[in-house]
Amino acid sequence: MEYSYDDQNIFAKILRGEIPNQTVYESEHALAFRDINPQAPVHVLVIPKGPYVSLDHFARDASQEEQVGFMQAVAEVCRLTDTDGGFRAICNTRTHGVQDVPHYHMHIIGGRQLGRMLQ
Ligand code: 5GP
Repeated sequence: MEYSYDDQNIFAKILRGEIPNQTVYESEHALAFRDINPQAPVHVLVIPKGPYVSLDHFARDASQEEQVGFMQAVAEVCRLTDTDGGFRAICNTRTHGVQDVPHYHMHIIGGRQLGRMLQ
């Protein structure tokens, strides 16, 4: 699998500070910010700072430090937001996963009772 990163994607622009965002948490390896079109009271996107297209690209090519840093950011988002009742973490991945923005991101969605996704 060849992954080709487009540095003009919207999250790359957010990382470069070219587009404003509502940051929830930032570290050396990750940025977490509120989704512009929230599906629930908590809807945060966690992205790595490195140029990874998708979850599978990140899992294959990111260093252990980047991967640990990313999951630490997820943990911080859960600590800082109202996810005590639980939440849903989703990574839409490439074409079949209906991924719109080609920079790896995890959605953290919570703050209300969600419906079932899979039966
Ligand atoms: P995907 O379908 O790629 O998993 O989800 C992309 C998400 O990015 C969507 O939930 C969409 O609302 C969000 N999004 C798209 N453009 C922007 C933006 O400019 N700023 C923020 N904060 N979120 C965005």
